[in-house]
Amino acid sequence: MLTFQQLATITHGKVLQFAAPLPVNHLLTDSRKLSQPAGTVFFAINGKYNDGHKYLASLYEQGVRQFIVEKEQNEAGQNYSLLFPEANLLLVQSSLQALQQLAAWHRAQFAIPVIGITGSNGKTIVKEWLAQLLSPDEMVVKSPRSYNSQLGVPLSVWQLNSNYTLAIFEAGISVPGEMEKLQPIIQPTIGIFTNIGSAHDEGFTSRKQKVQEKLKLFTGVDVLIYCTDHELLHQEVKEQTINSFTWSREHEADITITATTTAGHKTIVVYTYKGEKQRLAIPFTDDASLENTLHCLAVLLYRNVPLAEIQDRLDRLQPVAMRLEMKEAINGCYLIDDTYNNDLAGLHIALDLLANQPKRSKRTVILSDFLESGLPEEVLYSQVAMRIKAHQVDRVIGIGPTISNYKTAFGNEATFYQRTSDFLQQFKSEDFRNELILVKGARVFEFERIVHAFQQKVHGTVLEVNLDALVHNLNYYRSKLAPETKLMVMVKAFAYGSGSFEVANLLQFHRVDYLAVAYVDEGVMLREHGITLPIMVMNPSPDSFAKLHQHNLEPEIYSLELLELYLKDLPASTQRHRIHLKLDTGMHRLGFTPEDFNALFELLQQFPRVQVISTFTHLAGADEALHDDFSQLQIRNFRSMAAEVEARLGYSVIKHVLNSAGIVRFPEHQLDMVRLGIGLYGVEATGSEQEALRSVSTLKTTVSQVKTIVKGETVGYSRKGIADSDKTIATIAIGYADGYDRRFGNGAGQVIINGKRCPIIGNVCMDMCMVDVTGLNVKAGDEAIVFGPQLTLTDMADRIGTIPYELLTNVSSRVKRIFFAE
Ligand SMILES: *Cc1c(COP(=O)(O)O)cnc(C)c1O
Repeated sequence: MLTFQQLATITHGKVLQFAAPLPVNHLLTDSRKLSQPAGTVFFAINGKYNDGHKYLASLYEQGVRQFIVEKEQNEAGQNYSLLFPEANLLLVQSSLQALQQLAAWHRAQFAIPVIGITGSNGKTIVKEWLAQLLSPDEMVVKSPRSYNSQLGVPLSVWQLNSNYTLAIFEAGISVPGEMEKLQPIIQPTIGIFTNIGSAHDEGFTSRKQKVQEKLKLFTGVDVLIYCTDHELLHQEVKEQTINSFTWSREHEADITITATTTAGHKTIVVYTYKGEKQRLAIPFTDDASLENTLHCLAVLLYRNVPLAEIQDRLDRLQPVAMRLEMKEAINGCYLIDDTYNNDLAGLHIALDLLANQPKRSKRTVILSDFLESGLPEEVLYSQVAMRIKAHQVDRVIGIGPTISNYKTAFGNEATFYQRTSDFLQQFKSEDFRNELILVKGARVFEFERIVHAFQQKVHGTVLEVNLDALVHNLNYYRSKLAPETKLMVMVKAFAYGSGSFEVANLLQFHRVDYLAVAYVDEGVMLREHGITLPIMVMNPSPDSFAKLHQHNLEPEIYSLELLELYLKDLPASTQRHRIHLKLDTGMHRLGFTPEDFNALFELLQQFPRVQVISTFTHLAGADEALHDDFSQLQIRNFRSMAAEVEARLGYSVIKHVLNSAGIVRFPEHQLDMVRLGIGLYGVEATGSEQEALRSVSTLKTTVSQVKTIVKGETVGYSRKGIADSDKTIATIAIGYADGYDRRFGNGAGQVIINGKRCPIIGNVCMDMCMVDVTGLNVKAGDEAIVFGPQLTLTDMADRIGTIPYELLTNVSSRVKRIFFAE
């Protein structure tokens, strides 16, 4: 067992305080992911967006007693040793480096084969597939999901224990110098270089440099497995004389692929190995899957797995779900669909996601047997039960003979079934209401059948919301703010169409300061879903004041009439009431002007219980340089009006002006707070920094039918779509009732099907429209992308003379939202 003193030796750190000998079991780098304080060591990492030292006090309060820190004192100059008298404290230069040193030390304790994977694409899939393919012979430990970064690799390697017989870890880098740090942590004995493409090109001076940097992972491997068709890679490996095992579709290699043909859903691969011709059926037909499978084949041949056995295992290979999806389901439930595999590390990640959603009426976990864990069953299931308990799960449903044997570990609320079909037979939809349900099972349990049973039957149009992209955009705007500037995020109009409570919840998790909605009902909805952040309501109607008070929402007051009505209905308590004053500086929408001030402050003086929290104004043309003079004038007016507000009130208030475009264009006028809107959702309103943002929403639908028409025939209502030649057309399941604007009709709009842009032909109908797919191999059931990363909102909005805001907020509520993290 590793001790705290050893930690000091391994990391060359300075012990600031030693309070008690404690075991080092869990490594924590994200304070929100604490599950078992005893045995946890927290590494306070000072990162680009956040400083881990900020969370020391709260972790100490929650029982954590071991900390790796980069500073001896907090910002107020108090020594951590005095603040945390019972803690073990270790001072290091870099907590991240200390974590890496610890992981490298841990790795060195094991003499098992370790497969290290890098390359531009396919790392995660090759890793997951190899784990499937090798697990009949080995106890395999692998990186959870795509934990391949400077932080993810050490955490992956920390999972190693003496029960495993083989490890598979992936490593990803984006700039030079990073792989040198990952190599000693992974110390691979077998290397796989998947391929080299354009990903992260911007971080390197040339492709060659990128290849050289990535190859540093393989210093000291017994063998490197790669495809020699990647010319640049092949050259480098030869120059560096790394011992290799290769495959190629173009020239002679250890495994020479001589032919590939598709047959139905399979690809038949003919290859020569050790002078003999072999044949293999691969259960995929796309190029990427083929390449990934051939890497796996190479590993299996290198490890002398018999040929018949290889075919047998490949037949059972399953596609890998690259992300955790949250899906709407029956009776107001949401599902986290993680039906791909079931191991401890994956469970931890999925439980974190579950715990970080706001509390619905219940949290439920449906779990299968764990097939590979490297732990004795009894230890394993007690750990599973403990983790589930630490994540405040209300009900557990266990499926499988083994998990059923360990019932008692899960408490009385848990129910168990021997098989998936037993559960489905007894499944009653009314037993599940407003719950968040994690469905996590090993492949063989076919939990996708459970997901299916839970999923509402809705038509094929969905809006996918990428929560990671949203966080990326949030951080991008945060990086533009001074440290003391507060951030209010606009989640009005269903969070710009993206789904308000899910987005609000993520924002709460990422600690923004304020939310704003348009109407009281929107605020009430957020409160009912567990949002506790302060919420400003921009259009509080007088008939909703009671609800406003009841749910602790803060009104924007913009006129004397509204203020009078508000004050008249003030509940008779001594409680303070927080309001926000809107000033009109030239937008001429809502707001007070200086002429209102005498009456305004006279009224407020009579109600000392009413506290003005903030005052603000809105710029009419922040996104266009054309209006810069006007914006500057508005800002000047605001500054002087706000100064008068504060003077008349006799206290200071939060002052804010900037929307998303303003944050980019007028950073010097951040004042106390900014109001982020469209930028969070991936549209950079000024257009100048669009590249820095990630696209958040993808609207997709499916092809319902494909037909051919001859020249001169017409398509749709009013016979507007006229075939000027013979055509193939596809009917897709989206219309103006879904929010797909009628102006997209007759060639104005396009959708992407199978990677190709296809124009709309004829008028857009209520629930459907038709697209021209002539010459493309399109069939019913194919996916059609209406907007998304490849078909930007800005581009689509331009085509019909509107703005991205309108397209986003128009997506109808009947379109199912799917939230996912990568
Ligand atoms: C909607 C709104 C914002 C956000 O504007 P974006 O252009 O989406 O950033 C800011 N302030 C007010 C008052 C708003 O109504």
